[in-house]
Amino acid sequence: MQPIDLEKEKKEILNRYRSLLRSCADKVDKKDKKDIRKAFDLSVKAHKEQRRKTGEPYIYHPIAVAHIAAKEIGLGATSIMCALLHDIVEDTDYTLEDIEKIFGKKVATIIDGLTKIQDVFDKNVSMQAENFRKMLLTLSDDVRVILIKLADRLHNMRTLHSMPVHKKLKIASETLYLYAPLAHRLGLYSIKTELEDLGLKFTKPEVYKAISEELRATKEERKKYITKFTKPIKFKLKENKLNFSIKGRPKSIFSIRNKMVSKSVNFDNIFDKFAVRIIVDSSSLDEKSDCWKIYSIVTDFYKPNPDRLRDWISTPKANGYESLHTTVMGDDGKWVEVQIRSRRMDDIAEKGYAAHWKYKQKGSKENSLDEWIVNIRELLENPEVNAIDFIDDFKLNLYSGEIYIFTPGGDLKVLPKGATALDFAFSIHTDIGLKCMGVKVNGKLVSLSKKLNSGDQVEVITSKKQRPRKDWLRFVVTSRAKSKIKSALKEDKKKIAMIGKELAERKLKHLKLKLNNKTETELIRHFESGNSLELYFRFGTGAISNSEIKNFVRLKNRGWYQTIKNKIYGPPVPKNSSKSEKVIVFNDNDEVLDYEMAKCCNPIPGDNIFGFLTVVDGIKIHRSDCPNAIQLRANYSYRILIAKWIRKDELDFVATINIKGIDSVGLMNKVTQIISNQMNVNIKSINISSNDGTFEGIITLKVHNVSFLKELTIKLEKVEAISSITRTYKHN
Ligand code: MN
Repeated sequence: MQPIDLEKEKKEILNRYRSLLRSCADKVDKKDKKDIRKAFDLSVKAHKEQRRKTGEPYIYHPIAVAHIAAKEIGLGATSIMCALLHDIVEDTDYTLEDIEKIFGKKVATIIDGLTKIQDVFDKNVSMQAENFRKMLLTLSDDVRVILIKLADRLHNMRTLHSMPVHKKLKIASETLYLYAPLAHRLGLYSIKTELEDLGLKFTKPEVYKAISEELRATKEERKKYITKFTKPIKFKLKENKLNFSIKGRPKSIFSIRNKMVSKSVNFDNIFDKFAVRIIVDSSSLDEKSDCWKIYSIVTDFYKPNPDRLRDWISTPKANGYESLHTTVMGDDGKWVEVQIRSRRMDDIAEKGYAAHWKYKQKGSKENSLDEWIVNIRELLENPEVNAIDFIDDFKLNLYSGEIYIFTPGGDLKVLPKGATALDFAFSIHTDIGLKCMGVKVNGKLVSLSKKLNSGDQVEVITSKKQRPRKDWLRFVVTSRAKSKIKSALKEDKKKIAMIGKELAERKLKHLKLKLNNKTETELIRHFESGNSLELYFRFGTGAISNSEIKNFVRLKNRGWYQTIKNKIYGPPVPKNSSKSEKVIVFNDNDEVLDYEMAKCCNPIPGDNIFGFLTVVDGIKIHRSDCPNAIQLRANYSYRILIAKWIRKDELDFVATINIKGIDSVGLMNKVTQIISNQMNVNIKSINISSNDGTFEGIITLKVHNVSFLKELTIKLEKVEAISSITRTYKHN
């Protein structure tokens, strides 16, 4: 260990002290300076023997905290004194009474608050945010306590690397959980951002490192982009004789990470990694109009997303934040956030409202902070509904009936609200809609039915093999998409129906029946097809089985059944009972009739059954293998009705499957093809998410019975990229 050079340290302490004084030179007078010196001298004396974990003299810490309070929060003399003294009562032999005797009541009260907060933290390992807020309120009659505490925490975070691991984790978590949100609430943006980044750095070092390396690697590229982006703006601003500075600022590592998690995309797919900030030097009279002038110049060059205009100039946030934000589409289809504000607004945005007093009358003292202190108290006392969150959440949407969607090339498309990804595809071109295979919204693969939000950037993936599907009609909202899908489906249907008609002709010929107009009409009625196109389409898709055709022919030859029925029941009366209440229908156009299950054999769905017309009890349903069946059939064959369980394809049930696997090109394609090629399976909804190369799909289907589902699962399992298919019981 190197011997400590006390002389050198003494000099360094003085250097740091002088730097502190310089940072507050514009807001302290002679008397203030004397008081600060007094506090400094006492602090040096009190902490004399102490060292920090870093090995440095302890006094470096109070000086640094005072420096942050003065320079980064904009606090004045009293706060600087308190910051210098903040650890004395806690860590040295000096008492609160000593402080009060030397510095007076005000300073003592603040130090008391700071000491108590420390106490609470040391005793309570875990604290709820709400308790923390209450505690802050009770302990801090003077809000400066909180501000100094934040400065203290920031310096501790900056020097956290020297702490043992378990302490690092505790302090960093506490910071993310309590202090960063607090800084945010108070409008201390640069402190909040630094606390968050440091918090991430110590809680998730690998993540922090990965993102900061990515940022570093893409720095040059970003710089070039920003230079190119700002060039025409700069030119125009100069032409307008505006005094300004313009810079591109990367977003914080913490916020990039948040986006990656919340949108489950990787670094490359975060588009707004930086913001361009234009700061204009204007008088307080001109600043507002100058900002809007700049806005107009920026949007002359780049198309703005009207949904992401934030005007905090006309209506500042409750914490004092003033700025004009817009997000515009750069040349190559990248979103760029542009923040426009005056120098004064920028100071407030960075340092919080304390910076405000600088712009008030010269020579005003820390007392002019009182107004802000009242504001902050209000913010803290009213945690739920506060103006910050309200304005933050408020989505400015001038044209609520429309949404604005961008192509990858940066073109703007206006669609009605509620429009889906597929509507967008059709809005580009009918062929793109009809061949639409998949859609990426903001870089993420989504289902075609995904509802779009204003500002989304949408990329359509097409495939030559894709065919329009009937279920598309269930979710598209634009009339354009609807009519294009319908006519395409009709074309497809016609082709299939042509094949179906030939098929029907052949099959009927086999059963010695000619397909003429009369037969066609009877077929339409029997199979409830509505029209010949529908009928032959069903033949074409194989929906009508051979046995169903045979049954039709048999019934046609057995026209007497109606007579028998009329004899017993009278002429058929239209029944109110709908098919949905019944599970059994009777031959001849699937007639809906009242029936009861026979007690002798109690049929259950799926059993082979027949109906028997009794004289007093109406129709009884028996199993075909009922002990009485032979006797009934033998003696009363004319009373036997063909009965069947309602066509399985009318008894849909909903099943949800969860597919996991490796995200690969064309996987979506394969999955949807397999499902849609599976007869009698309808997709109700698809939710696909891909993250870091993995793929998860939650697909809700309408199937007719379990065997369809099993068949489908077997087919899906054959897809290589799919690693698991599970049936879930929670439906979307
Ligand atoms: Mn401290």
